[in-house]
Amino acid sequence: MVLDNWLNQRLEKTKEAGLYRKFRTMNTAPLPEMVIDGRKQIVFSANNYLGLANDERLIYAAETVLHEFGVGSSGSRLTTGHTDWHQKLEEKIARFKRTQAALLFSSGFLANVGVLSSLPEKGDVILSDQYNHASIIDGCRLSKADTVVYNHIDMKDLEEKLKEALSYNRRFIVTDGVYSMDGTIAPLDQIMGLAKQYDAYVIVDDAHATGVLGERGGGTSEYFGVHPDVVIGTLSKAVGTEGGFVAGSTALIDFLLNHARTFIFQTAMPPSICAASYAALEIIEESKEKRQLLFSNIKKVKNSLIEMGYTVKGDLTPIIPVIIGDSQDAVRFAERLQENGIYAPAIRPPTVPNGESRIRLTVNSDHSSEQINYLLECFHSIGKELNMI
Ligand code: PMP
Repeated sequence: MVLDNWLNQRLEKTKEAGLYRKFRTMNTAPLPEMVIDGRKQIVFSANNYLGLANDERLIYAAETVLHEFGVGSSGSRLTTGHTDWHQKLEEKIARFKRTQAALLFSSGFLANVGVLSSLPEKGDVILSDQYNHASIIDGCRLSKADTVVYNHIDMKDLEEKLKEALSYNRRFIVTDGVYSMDGTIAPLDQIMGLAKQYDAYVIVDDAHATGVLGERGGGTSEYFGVHPDVVIGTLSKAVGTEGGFVAGSTALIDFLLNHARTFIFQTAMPPSICAASYAALEIIEESKEKRQLLFSNIKKVKNSLIEMGYTVKGDLTPIIPVIIGDSQDAVRFAERLQENGIYAPAIRPPTVPNGESRIRLTVNSDHSSEQINYLLECFHSIGKELNMI
């Protein structure tokens, strides 16, 4: 009970700071229209960018392998957990990312932590973008290398910090491909140029770009036509399943298999999820249609909100942050959206800078034009009602 008293005091502080979080229960599959806490809502906040999470072809692939291999993998990859399906999926990811090899992790979070905690050594430095994902930050914290943070996608700042870092044994630049709160695309071509100039390695976390950016959905590397040293990704967003991966050279993958603790000591992904992910990648590679639908929805939402007078951040990606400013206003806005049957959360400091609280919309290929029009109507009427436009 003493522990509970102390924890409750800490939770009170979390509440006072406006940072208390709690679950909302999704009572249906991740369709654009879902029942959340018993209420019907059109969801504009899921990462299921291509609507694959409940695609029949993925369900069929998982189901078939589920009957063959059972539910759990029952061991780590280096003991009893490695199956043909893990191998097939890794080969597929390598072909998809145009690298020599790939390695699966149980999540993108663990892939980032595994790479950053094992690859850079003492005497090396990691240059990390200010807005990189929490898993990159945690990976840097676990690394024996020093970490230097550069301003968000600020190439001048990165260059200055690279110059200052020339005395380190090795330099690693780590960046998200698409930033999850801002929807910005990292200028990977410029980052690669700086890396060449200052003799650095590039690690890109392509969680939000995989399946989305590039002609075949190959991500930011394909979008810019570059080849970073380490490409990290997740299967949990556009691919629609679960798990993370690293793609790169055969030597990199062999190194991680032997040194990344979040790979060695984790239980292997279930083979059924590998099969569903394999099916998803086939769909992503073969059909451009879903990506075309996605981008036409993104353009419609973004352009219309800007025309209405909203400040919308970011590049052309499924993440559309609509800046509201004040935290309370953003919460009020999100509540009004929910009352109108639209689910899109308010994002507040410290996740985003002070005065930049926002509604973070994500758009996917399955949103119908009726759903998009309704979202825009709500933004128009709520914006007027709350004197925001
Ligand atoms: N990187 C980024 C940029 C992310 O947004 C996320 C998911 N929120 C992750 C990594 C972690 O991926 P996963 O959900 O597969 O652990």
